Amino acid sequence: MKFALVTGGSRGIGRAICLKMADMGYNILINYKSNEIEANHTLSLVMGKGVSGEIIQFDVSDRNQVQSALGGWMEANQDKVIEVLINNAGIREDALMMWMKDEQWDSVIGTSLGGFFYVTRLVVNSMLMKKYGRIINIVSLSGLKGLPGQTNYSAAKAGVIGATKALAQEIGRKGITVNAIAPGFIKTDMTEGLNENELKALIPLKRFGLPEEVAHAVGFLASAEASYITAEVISVNGGLYS
Ligand code: NDP
Repeated sequence: MKFALVTGGSRGIGRAICLKMADMGYNILINYKSNEIEANHTLSLVMGKGVSGEIIQFDVSDRNQVQSALGGWMEANQDKVIEVLINNAGIREDALMMWMKDEQWDSVIGTSLGGFFYVTRLVVNSMLMKKYGRIINIVSLSGLKGLPGQTNYSAAKAGVIGATKALAQEIGRKGITVNAIAPGFIKTDMTEGLNENELKALIPLKRFGLPEEVAHAVGFLASAEASYITAEVISVNGGLYS
């Protein structure tokens, strides 16, 4: 029973990744934080592809929840192996830094960077025992370039990029690759309030990307054939920045 765990799999890019992994034959473990209806919708789409799926609710930024929910699942399901981990859960809470509240800083860093740490630390152990694994972190153009109004988000994503490169070097000898995907503007709830007409003029491909276009790159890195690619960051941004 080979599973792909997708954090933040209930909506947006995470849902598209769940469906891509299902197309590749993986059973899917769908994590979400609070949107149970959307998580159930993702589950039904996954099952429609003829693989099995399970929903696992926890807040990736809460180390106790990660330990009890995910650690508990792994303990209770020792016949099931998480072969692919996609750290996708993320939020944005934009503000210019001089007005940024502690809560805005903590929640964004806690979700992307803390979430990466708590979830990966648990899952990597079983990958090490199996001597195979694929870890893919969804970062952002913001973490490469920095964007004004997003010091918290840029720091969180740049932090995950650094951790991706460090972890890749720690566990490469065990057949586990660790890579990141850096999307630009992708049409999801997260970009709902942005002025697409104005922003798309800046993008060489003249449009926002689709979640499926990010998921396709994830699928490539998750494949067995991507075996000699690690510590890499692939941009999926329509040429906006590279
Ligand atoms: P959405 O806002 O559409 O979805 C966010 C997902 O993350 C939801 O499934 C949500 O769960 C989940 N989530 C949020 N916080 C937590 C948490 N603490 N614990 C567990 N799950 C959580 O975002 P996108 O699909 O647009 O973004 C997905 C990833 O891609 C993020 O990491 C984001 O930073 C990154 N990204 C997105 C870009 C874009 O343009 N859209 C550009 C660059 C990067 P729930 O449904 O329960 O709320």
